[in-house]
Amino acid sequence: MDKFLRRKDSSSRTDDEEPTTSVTKNLKKVVKRKYDEDYIKNGFSWCGDETAPRPQCIICGDQLSNESMVPSKLKRHLYSSHPSCANKDKQYFKRCLEQNKKQKKSMKSAVTVSEKALKASYHVAKLIARQKKPHTVGETLIKPACMEIVRLMHGPNEVKEVNKVSLSADTVKRRIHDMSSDILGTLIKKLLSAEKYALQIDETTIKNKAQLIAIVRFVDEDFIKEHYLFCKEVPERNTGEEIFRVTDDFFKICNIQWSNCIAV
Ligand SMILES: [Zn+2]
Repeated sequence: MDKFLRRKDSSSRTDDEEPTTSVTKNLKKVVKRKYDEDYIKNGFSWCGDETAPRPQCIICGDQLSNESMVPSKLKRHLYSSHPSCANKDKQYFKRCLEQNKKQKKSMKSAVTVSEKALKASYHVAKLIARQKKPHTVGETLIKPACMEIVRLMHGPNEVKEVNKVSLSADTVKRRIHDMSSDILGTLIKKLLSAEKYALQIDETTIKNKAQLIAIVRFVDEDFIKEHYLFCKEVPERNTGEEIFRVTDDFFKICNIQWSNCIAV
């Protein structure tokens, strides 16, 4: 008995040393395989959750399942997908892995800077639109002012970052257009899902040109919402027929049904 216990004890110890651990879950034995440093000779590192890592091929970046974290399966991928690397040694794969990591890091920093610059560009365009300032104010005043502030308070390297924010008149115009079409898109989506809506149309004449403003009212998540829909010029004679035609054209483009209009 003693012998048996000792044997059991020693066998469980070797179990611990093995790179696999088993967890009993829902009465079903789920084996979570661990990564072993030695697997790098098969061209694999790991990614994902540390408790159930997934093997990731160093050559092609493919991710296999946790169940495939066994030398035979890793080897199979290496031999079938990358036969030219099959005879490479540990050092070769280690170098590849280091290179991959470096590349990833530099790419990540490049992406985050340009992403931030893009975001900043949109935010400033929004401010310009809200204040009803000319689109040129971005390049003539805002950007030089920001660069001056950053140069004095942070330093020349930070100024370079600020310089990446595009604020030319064309960019500002494009950003404002992008944002307004995005707002319109969201509005149309909500309007279509609300189905029924009420329409209010108003026209004013500025310097002999008739402007048509449309406002919609609809139920959005239990609240009655009122929203500006469009402002369009009535190109020809300012008659009821023309007003209908302009509105109808817009409705057709946006797929808004007249049959759902319950009040005008
Ligand atoms: Zn691969």
